[in-house]
Amino acid sequence: MNCDSLNILGRIVPVKIGETDDGNCGEYHKKAITIIDGLSDEDFMVTLLHEGGHAFFDRIGLTGHIHSTTEEVIVEGFATWITENFDIRFKNEGGRG
Ligand SMILES: [Zn+2]
Repeated sequence: MNCDSLNILGRIVPVKIGETDDGNCGEYHKKAITIIDGLSDEDFMVTLLHEGGHAFFDRIGLTGHIHSTTEEVIVEGFATWITENFDIRFKNEGGRG
């Protein structure tokens, strides 16, 4: 599964496959998302939704206004329940490689 960008309330956030600084499956850093290679489609989607959640918090100006642990719980829980209940497909053509 692949996705080259997300549209977060009008802000285009690049998504690339690569190494993460801390060895996690994904990271949101400098307004871009990086996801490690080799994840299953489901793990990729959970990771993309999780990191997209951080991008969303940044976009709406909440990053830094709530505790980082609280933000982690919210984005992980949201990513998990979405993927537990829905099959998601990308709107843009670069979305699924
Ligand atoms: Zn996180």
